[in-house]
Amino acid sequence: MAIRNQCKMSFLSLSENVGIARVAAAAFAAQLDLTLSDIEEIKVAVSEAVSNAVIHGYGDSSGIIEFSMTLYDDRLEYVVTDYGKGIEDIELARQPSYSTDPERMGLGFVFMESFMDELLIDSAPGKGTVVTLIKKITPPSTH
Ligand code: ATP
Ligand code: MG
Repeated sequence: MAIRNQCKMSFLSLSENVGIARVAAAAFAAQLDLTLSDIEEIKVAVSEAVSNAVIHGYGDSSGIIEFSMTLYDDRLEYVVTDYGKGIEDIELARQPSYSTDPERMGLGFVFMESFMDELLIDSAPGKGTVVTLIKKITPPSTH
């Protein structure tokens, strides 16, 4: 499907950059006539995905996170890519309250799933993780 707009950025895996991705996600969504609650949900979902890349993907090491925002006729798509640790068992990682860190709630993927229309996770141990967050939108009228 044709791309109507796209913006890509990459940043180091520092927690400071979670807020930058969050603001960029909201600014990109602002070109559409979304509700404030839609935009708030996108901000939370993107923050969770980028936080995961920082905390779990790279941990104490540092690496590059790529973040792309694309507007298609029928959806807004945010893709967060890291080249870090990867996820052993994606189905398990998606379960509510599952976390490999006992200090954490294990709710990031649950939020992403409930706040967006679609959550796709592609990951390979030792290679990295690609998280795709999709918000469906009403296609522009053709007449
Ligand atoms: P919370 O998000 O509530 O702080 P959490 O990050 O552990 O806790 P989720 O965001 O749901 O919970 O992620 C579940 C688990 O999936 C994580 O504990 C981690 O093991 C794994 N995971 C998630 N994202 C990544 C990633 N980018 N790279 C490697 N592992 C990841
Ligand atoms: Mg998380």
